[in-house]
Amino acid sequence: MSENELELHDVGSQASVLTRYTDAMINTFGPPKRVFVRGEGVHVWDADGRKYLDLLSGLAVLGLGHAHPLVTSAIMSQLSTLGHVSNFFATPAQVELAERLTGFVGEGAKVFFANSGTEANEAAFKITRRTGRRRIISTVGAFHGRSMGALALTHNPKYREPFEPLPGDVTFVEYGDLDALAAAVDESVAAVILEPIQGENGVIVPADDYVTGAREITREHGALLWIDEVQTGIGRTGDWLAHRPGGEGIVADIVTVAKGLGNGFPIGACLATGRAADLLQPGAHGTTFGGNPVAAMAGLAVLSAIERDGLLAHVRTTGEAFAQQLRDLGHPAITEVRGRGFLLGVVLTDARAAAVSDLALDAGFVINAPRPDVLRLAPPLITTAEQLGTFVSALPGLLDAAGEPS
Ligand SMILES: *Cc1c(COP(=O)(O)O)cnc(C)c1O
Repeated sequence: MSENELELHDVGSQASVLTRYTDAMINTFGPPKRVFVRGEGVHVWDADGRKYLDLLSGLAVLGLGHAHPLVTSAIMSQLSTLGHVSNFFATPAQVELAERLTGFVGEGAKVFFANSGTEANEAAFKITRRTGRRRIISTVGAFHGRSMGALALTHNPKYREPFEPLPGDVTFVEYGDLDALAAAVDESVAAVILEPIQGENGVIVPADDYVTGAREITREHGALLWIDEVQTGIGRTGDWLAHRPGGEGIVADIVTVAKGLGNGFPIGACLATGRAADLLQPGAHGTTFGGNPVAAMAGLAVLSAIERDGLLAHVRTTGEAFAQQLRDLGHPAITEVRGRGFLLGVVLTDARAAAVSDLALDAGFVINAPRPDVLRLAPPLITTAEQLGTFVSALPGLLDAAGEPS
């Protein structure tokens, strides 16, 4: 080994890493379920050498799967050419990614780059304050991040209440309910923030006219429409943005993306159109890492591979067939399979989702349970119908083995 290669100390077994984890890590996530050491395509391996089909993608992040060669080469070549410059300076990678992303949102969009979904939402939150109005309408069940600002927009009282007071003044209305939204929006409202599908709340899909209705209501009262596509964007639902199926539809004032954009390399983006694109001026916001050229190259690689390999169409058709196969199981513990593309929620009759998720891991499938009665499936966009089929075959046994909670 040369002096320019770094190796970890003896990795050892999963058990030994988990003991060290408990001693060294602040306990925000609870005990980890596995220690992963390697990934390739749709598979990951744990420290004991067991292989898993990754149907969660690092939480809707790894659209191209693990260790995608185009992402790896884009990152490596940028990193070995120019790794970072600060935002006193520009790089071609950053500008090209900005141009590609703005094309998804609509005419005249501009970008602020950040390092995560939360930070993209923080930038957006600051844009809304520059309207001269302060009120924000969010939705029941919404998830927008965990910083003090993003948390103020997140509904779950368990996340929010221990940290109050949070930035105001935020009102939560029922998700999917246009009448409730119309009743809440008036001339005091700076912005309405919505997810096109609520991911963390258990993959809740509103009616088709929800986002267009929200566009009309906000326009009528001069409020900004802010769509949080952090989980749903960049191909996850079979479109670049879930709120613009087929690349058409309404133009929002603000759109935030992150998870799927860097295929695991941290990057987020706040996209703004019209007057919202000019509300932040020099000095109003900033970031050290946001727009970093390595992250930008990761993003460009993701967009290029999705386009080159026709993954949007693949996700639409394969996702629909996958959902139908899960429904066709007709298992008595499944009440509904909802979602779009490769973002699905399997709704169960009772609170056995965490148990099913643990049994799935034992059986070699990574999934999760965003709610006690919902399983979430967010496989890499490259997953084949055949690979998804192995999970369809395994699910009835997992549901039976978990049984009804006592
Ligand atoms: C994950 C998520 C966020 C937060 O993104 P981070 O990258 O974890 O900061 C915000 N909004 C939605 C809809 C998300 O799913």
